[in-house]
Amino acid sequence: MARFMYGRNGADQLCWAILIAELALSLLSSLIRNQYFSAFAHYASLFLCVYLFFRLFSRNLEKRRAENAKFMQWWGPKQSALRGAKARRADKAHKYVKCSCGTYCRVPRGVGRVELTCPKCGKKQIVKT
Ligand SMILES: [Zn+2]
Repeated sequence: MARFMYGRNGADQLCWAILIAELALSLLSSLIRNQYFSAFAHYASLFLCVYLFFRLFSRNLEKRRAENAKFMQWWGPKQSALRGAKARRADKAHKYVKCSCGTYCRVPRGVGRVELTCPKCGKKQIVKT
């Protein structure tokens, strides 16, 4: 298998995204009982499946890498925003205040009212922790 995959694209981020899209489609089609939608979902997931295998075993690495880079250009910022939101939710020791410039400012919880100065734009605001 390793020898067979040598010189081929293999699974990159775009492949994983296609796989997830396929799973989401099949889940949707089992939830939505509509014959037109299930027909659409069937052909769409078939197409995605073919495209997925085409990308996995493609030998045209340059093109596949360019496609993946394009996808990551679109998805990368969203992914890091999602990761940031998850980390902020997990952090119970701090409060995160979003500034009007879009920056998240971190303040420790339980210290009462503090004047917060945004490190990016310097705007001040009073925050209750
Ligand atoms: Zn700011």
